[in-house]
Amino acid sequence: MNPKRGRSVKLNDGHFMPVLGLGTAASEGVPKSKATEAIKVAIDVGFRHIDAAYLYENEEEVGKAIREKVADGTVKREDIFYTTKLWSTFFRPELVQQALERSLKKLQLDYVDLFLIHLPMAMKPGEELLPKDASGKVILETVDLCDTWEALEKCKDAGLTKSIGVSNFNRKLLEMILNKPGLKYKPVCNQVECHPYLNQSKLLEFCKSKDIVLVAYSALGTQRDPKWVDKDSPVVLEDPTLNAIAKKHNRSAGQVALRYQVQRGVVVLAKSFNEKRIKENFQVFDFELTPEDMKAIDGLNKNYRYFKLAFAADHPYYPFSEEY
Ligand code: NAP
Repeated sequence: MNPKRGRSVKLNDGHFMPVLGLGTAASEGVPKSKATEAIKVAIDVGFRHIDAAYLYENEEEVGKAIREKVADGTVKREDIFYTTKLWSTFFRPELVQQALERSLKKLQLDYVDLFLIHLPMAMKPGEELLPKDASGKVILETVDLCDTWEALEKCKDAGLTKSIGVSNFNRKLLEMILNKPGLKYKPVCNQVECHPYLNQSKLLEFCKSKDIVLVAYSALGTQRDPKWVDKDSPVVLEDPTLNAIAKKHNRSAGQVALRYQVQRGVVVLAKSFNEKRIKENFQVFDFELTPEDMKAIDGLNKNYRYFKLAFAADHPYYPFSEEY
């Protein structure tokens, strides 16, 4: 049996995705080499799913860690599930494969396991990650997401990625792809913000009904990077209910927040570049929350979104104006 399948979910295209993944986005100022160290520790601890993106500007360091762990015999390449994402400046169909090839070149890998549309909103192509006009406004553009999707399908056919999916899509946008005439491959997943304060129960139900996996990012309540997140936002891991449940199980609030997602059928990401917390976050398969615990955590939902992406609120594909 493929070891990747143990704690994995079968995707709608037949591939397997480990239900717990390591996030690799780091705030500005964190030395890039930290990513290499953290990913090597994570692989040693047992993480087999690594979530990355062109946007995070550390794919060289992440790729180095994976290649070193393959070279020292800890894992084989096929044991690792590696996700990268298509950044918004590459949505024009003719740019999509080039964008993936750029990531692969940085990684020095032959393929990725999953390639996601990072956000529904396209931006002006070019080298800048956030192209801005003279007044400092991000320059958005409208690219038909169905055309971008077809270009992702071609990347899968070319063998550059095993699976394809989306991120930050609402129900309407998912339906747009699912109903696209001539659809060749369905998205295998929708990666969205999801934690006890934004539990995405309706989107989760919809995704399950379409055999699309919901992948939770910021499941621990984000890194609170002031570039993206309001400094006055509530702190998930300080929640009294979550902490009371953690105490009862002799676990940390972080472990409870991760276990909550695993138990409701959500694939969950946890970012840590700290050895102690990387180990802690992997210890979520040896305890179980009771139905009452799950209900109490469900009750914490307040539809609080950390990543509002307000700079793109007037884009026709802006996903967060709808209920879900
Ligand atoms: P997160 O996983 O919610 O939380 C990370 C923060 O919690 C870090 O500051 C980490 O610091 C700390 N932490 C980790 N484990 C902990 C524990 N057991 N107890 C207490 N604190 C703990 O962060 P995130 O980066 O927002 O989300 C995770 C990943 O999702 C990202 O890295 C990225 O891969 C992905 N993501 C995707 C999108 C998207 O648009 N698709 C958006 C955001 C994030 P230390 O490193 O110091 O441990």
